[in-house]
Amino acid sequence: MKRIRHYLFIVFLISVSAGYGLHAVFPEKTVDESLYLNEVAQGVIFSAKKGNHYTSREGITAFSTYDVTPSIRGYAGPVKTLISLSPDGRIHGIRILEHKETPNFVHRMETPEFLRQFLGKSINDPFEVDKDIDAISRATVSVEALSKTVRESSRKIASEAMGLEVVSREKAGRFNLKWAAYCLLFLLSLAGYFITRGSKRFLRLRDISLVLGIGLVGLWLSTPFSILHIFNLLLLRPSSDMLWYAIVISAVLSVGIAGRFYCGWLCPFGALSEFLGRVPLRKWEIPLETDDRWRGAKYFLFGLVIAAVFITGRPGFGNYETYVTLFSFHGNALAWGLVALSLLLNLRLQRFWCRYLCPVAALMGLLSRKAEGYPGRHDCPMGNRQMPLISECIRCNRCYGKGQP
Ligand code: SF4
Repeated sequence: MKRIRHYLFIVFLISVSAGYGLHAVFPEKTVDESLYLNEVAQGVIFSAKKGNHYTSREGITAFSTYDVTPSIRGYAGPVKTLISLSPDGRIHGIRILEHKETPNFVHRMETPEFLRQFLGKSINDPFEVDKDIDAISRATVSVEALSKTVRESSRKIASEAMGLEVVSREKAGRFNLKWAAYCLLFLLSLAGYFITRGSKRFLRLRDISLVLGIGLVGLWLSTPFSILHIFNLLLLRPSSDMLWYAIVISAVLSVGIAGRFYCGWLCPFGALSEFLGRVPLRKWEIPLETDDRWRGAKYFLFGLVIAAVFITGRPGFGNYETYVTLFSFHGNALAWGLVALSLLLNLRLQRFWCRYLCPVAALMGLLSRKAEGYPGRHDCPMGNRQMPLISECIRCNRCYGKGQP
């Protein structure tokens, strides 16, 4: 493990330096919004940009939301959007210029059909998802960021540049149900983890937690902890969404407290893999040495992705994660093929993806601290038949405190 840590640390340093150097020599091109003015206000001629907006003789004002509300961010930074406002403060035209959200989740958000619902809205409308803006299932955070940035930037431009009065009617501080549900599940699962360390009679609690993980984290929230969260954080593109922070903070905190607890208690893909692994089919017996060597593949792959992401500055390279395809319900044939293969292989090889390929498993394994009392056992869900490396233990607690059964 020490060698792997060194390998990844060196890869990280070289990639960050190379990325920084490349960025200095070839700075990333930002979209020239002026090229798209005609798309948000056809036939209108705008004067040169003054401050943060363009004006026209017809009284139409255009601006990029990024110039006005840069701190409103989706999952991976701001959703830069070009907007034109009519003289009475209504959305005249809208076009998304640029974003770094995960394409699997937000491909629908950029379509003209989706954006059409903003047209004609007044600056005083609420622009709230599920109220006057349609949600896109599995892309709620991005759509909320888009709605919020359109609302806040339009109001600011309307009052400061157009002299219109803004009458805000919505209540501040809406209750964030998804955030609360996730935090509750995390805390209950963590309590279950400590209870099962005390008594094996309650091991079923983990199954309940895993089922809730599939339903809540996977299907409802569609936000399993992903390596993209960490890459976006390191690239200084955190979200402004509370759920995003809850997921990142809880995952990182839990590694400090209980190693790969997230993998063993909450990860929806891990849960599906484990349940499939329980189908009573004879499992392949892989010699321990071969198994150990194969487990190293996830670190090698993780190193490649770190290099690709930090050299190019594009976290999208982390998109090979099967759970992103599965829980976004979107991907190409190759991505779906990988999902099917990773799930089916569990019938013969328990937790195939977690053991050999998962980048989150690699990250959490690297961050796991030493822990005593995990000797492994013949029916370990991770195939740890003998005293495992703690980085390979998902803390199911089946063997905790005992020798081989
Ligand atoms: S080593 Fe023990 S606690 Fe860890 S996953 Fe295997 S059986 Fe569970």
